[in-house]
Amino acid sequence: MALIVIIEDERDLLDLLEYHLEKEGYETFASLTVGPVKKLLEEEMPDLMIVDRNLPGVEGSEFVRQLREQGIEVPVIFLTAKVAESEIEEGFLRGGDDYITKPFNFKELLLRVRAVLRRSKPEESGAVRYRDITIRPRSHEVFVGERPVELTKLEFDLLLELVKNRNIVLSRDQLLERVWGDVGDYQDRTVNVAVNRLKEKIDPDKSKNYIKSVRGVGYQMC
Ligand code: CA
Repeated sequence: MALIVIIEDERDLLDLLEYHLEKEGYETFASLTVGPVKKLLEEEMPDLMIVDRNLPGVEGSEFVRQLREQGIEVPVIFLTAKVAESEIEEGFLRGGDDYITKPFNFKELLLRVRAVLRRSKPEESGAVRYRDITIRPRSHEVFVGERPVELTKLEFDLLLELVKNRNIVLSRDQLLERVWGDVGDYQDRTVNVAVNRLKEKIDPDKSKNYIKSVRGVGYQMC
């Protein structure tokens, strides 16, 4: 299910957008300001954002420009009363993928949402996500945010196993069995070394702490 962020400071409109999108089966994260969205983006990458431009604090397209600078490429549809040609141009130049002017019709909005989602994820099916990590088992690709990460087959399998079991602590024996395929020939140290290498690759500046080590037990995503 696609997660759609809506930033709109008119509450009635925000509620209405949320209602229509949820009715279409989308998961929504609705906010009157950009603050809560910034927090969300540290944890999770939505599939699409619908962004008003006249917002309190920061102008919507300026917010999107800042996200693009940080390498965040989530698709954006501006939904705005700024209808001048130069403003529409500005919206696209600052990173918008589509631009809808108010007043608008919901049916058209939903069609545009669907079109942008389709364009942005041509072969996304089967992707596994955790916080800002995207794992594509089919093509064996891993992205942290928008950054592709090169992993060995073993590191890839290890990450996938940890992410799939994000809610529980996996013991070293469980990991050896599921990732290495055998417990007997390896030692606990094998797992520690691999986990550390994986951590270095997905979190080189050690700021995100994706993998928690539970002393005497094993590892868990956090
Ligand atoms: Ca507004």
